Amino acid sequence: MHFGDFQDAMHTKEVNLFHSRLSFSLNTKLISPVEVVDKVIGYYRANKSDIDISQVEGFVRQIIGWREFMRGVYWKEMPGYANLNKLENYNKLPAFYWTGKTKMNCLKNAITNSLENAYAHHIQRLMITGNFALLIQVNPDEVDEWYLGIYIDAIEWVEITNTRGMSQFADGGIIGTKPYVSAASYIKKMSNYCSGCKYDKNKRVGESACPFNSLYWNFLDDKKKHFENNNRMSMMMNLLNKISKSELLEIKERAAKIIENPDNY
Ligand SMILES: Cc1cc2nc3c(=O)[nH]c(=O)nc-3n(C[C@H](O)[C@H](O)[C@H](O)COP(=O)(O)OP(=O)(O)OC[C@H]3O[C@@H](n4cnc5c(N)ncnc54)[C@H](O)[C@@H]3O)c2cc1C
Ligand code: SF4
Repeated sequence: MHFGDFQDAMHTKEVNLFHSRLSFSLNTKLISPVEVVDKVIGYYRANKSDIDISQVEGFVRQIIGWREFMRGVYWKEMPGYANLNKLENYNKLPAFYWTGKTKMNCLKNAITNSLENAYAHHIQRLMITGNFALLIQVNPDEVDEWYLGIYIDAIEWVEITNTRGMSQFADGGIIGTKPYVSAASYIKKMSNYCSGCKYDKNKRVGESACPFNSLYWNFLDDKKKHFENNNRMSMMMNLLNKISKSELLEIKERAAKIIENPDNY
């Protein structure tokens, strides 16, 4: 009923929010995509006064848009797709991905939820765990291994395209036109995570600063050769260029410390 409006929201007290939890049944072929789509559209046609078209459109798009698109990319690009690492990331996945033991409240919640339920909804996978892994420049092989091991719906054709492609941009843009990375401002806007966190969402440097903030600008700076000709990145690259050299140096020092030992944060 509220999928379209709240599909990108995250909350510490909610595991599923308005998500369907249908991915396992779809991926194991217990139910077919056409059956789901027909049912939802049928319900909408019969109950137009109860449900808005935007809720239905958002949901149907996930299935016939994203899911079927991912399937097409997998069959077109494999087996080479499994080795792509266009951003040349080689760091290790933090140990806390396997325990949830981190002081960063967003990661603690998204990872604990994933470990306890073998489930996380899309934005937790993309903008919390995936975002952080990309910002600290983890080898996509390790990121794939984690997603494939953790989620009940993880089957290679739909896992690898989402992880290596959409989330880690290791395919250089076959699936998405730009990497899905963000600093704390996006996480704050979409969730209640920051209000219960020991880190300050507004600070970029200093011991209390949210790690996502320095990592975000450091990532853009480290990887700028990959984004120079990407129009969708031009606004962010312009903002990066406006940061003074001395501030960027401080930001990069903070980011380097986090990348060296993410399990300390
Ligand atoms: C890094 C990352 C890894 C992912 N790994 C998987 C995976 O291994 N298996 C998997 O099925 N989905 C994966 N997804 C996509 C998406 O997160 C899940 O399909 C969704 O969270 C499943 O929960 P749900 O059934 O409640 O989905 P809802 O939010 O209710 O969406 C309805 C349905 O739409 C489909 N869907 C939505 N988004 C996508 C998408 N990006 N790609 C494919 N189908 C989509 C799913 O079949 C889902 O059941 C991944 C996304 C990211 C960012
Ligand atoms: S302040 Fe930073 S680390 Fe803490 S919850 Fe917000 S985004 Fe996550």
